[in-house]
Amino acid sequence: MAVTARCVRSTFFGTSSVHVTDGVSGILVDGFFTRPSLLRVALGRPVAPDLRRISDALSRGGVERLDALFVAHSHHDHVMDSPEVVRRVGGVLHGSESTVNVGRGAGLGEHSMRRISDGDRYVFGDFTVRVFEGAHSPGDRYPGSIDGPLVPPAKASAYRTGGCYSFLFEHPSGTILVHPSANFVPDKFDGLDVDLLYLGIGALGAQSARFQDDYWHHTVEATRPDLVIPVHWDDFGRSLDKKPRPMPRLLDNFAKTRELLDRKSTESGVPVRFQQPYETITPFS
Ligand SMILES: [Zn+2]
Repeated sequence: MAVTARCVRSTFFGTSSVHVTDGVSGILVDGFFTRPSLLRVALGRPVAPDLRRISDALSRGGVERLDALFVAHSHHDHVMDSPEVVRRVGGVLHGSESTVNVGRGAGLGEHSMRRISDGDRYVFGDFTVRVFEGAHSPGDRYPGSIDGPLVPPAKASAYRTGGCYSFLFEHPSGTILVHPSANFVPDKFDGLDVDLLYLGIGALGAQSARFQDDYWHHTVEATRPDLVIPVHWDDFGRSLDKKPRPMPRLLDNFAKTRELLDRKSTESGVPVRFQQPYETITPFS
């Protein structure tokens, strides 16, 4: 089967924005490219999609056409640009009711959006995407839901969590699990056989050792990937045009997370490597 399957490529765009394609079908997680400064967000000033940054990122990343866009949850660093991305490169916007309300606020038609739930499966060409509902990383700043169309510019605090999801991409050549938020539902992923795990590590360095152990257990040990690629480690208030750097020390302890990943990787024998923004890999070859 793997011999006839088309080669799957995967490109990282910072935070948990990941594009997966086999050259025929294309699926994007989040598609957050505007990345307004964290100072602006902290001061409660309004944020809005930056159309130039969105266009630049899509063209530099080679995303010309999408079948689907899946949004992990409705904080601005996941959902904010998703309607504009769909408007540019097509595809159906998939997410919680809160995400759909962000689409409505941007003027997307109902036929361009689909509300997702735990356990859903969607087929796009040779890909099947499975939806797993999870939990936001501890210390959710803007819990709750977006209950009506959200029209930008809006404060980051208006982008409330809604549902929180992970996405499993099954393809004849292999499987990829994108797990954006560093939290877990015990035993949720048991029995999955994953080749590549995109593992959210945002704010993981600030959690207890117990939490970190449990997190590794219920994600990496549960899915037994051949490779772990951390996501949501970068300072998402910094333009993708600049060299990425980790989240500021005020919000996370990246050095501690790195130590943890190094130790767990050595103990378990599961390789952990970082993918740089715009870097494309062929995970199954
Ligand atoms: Zn969030």
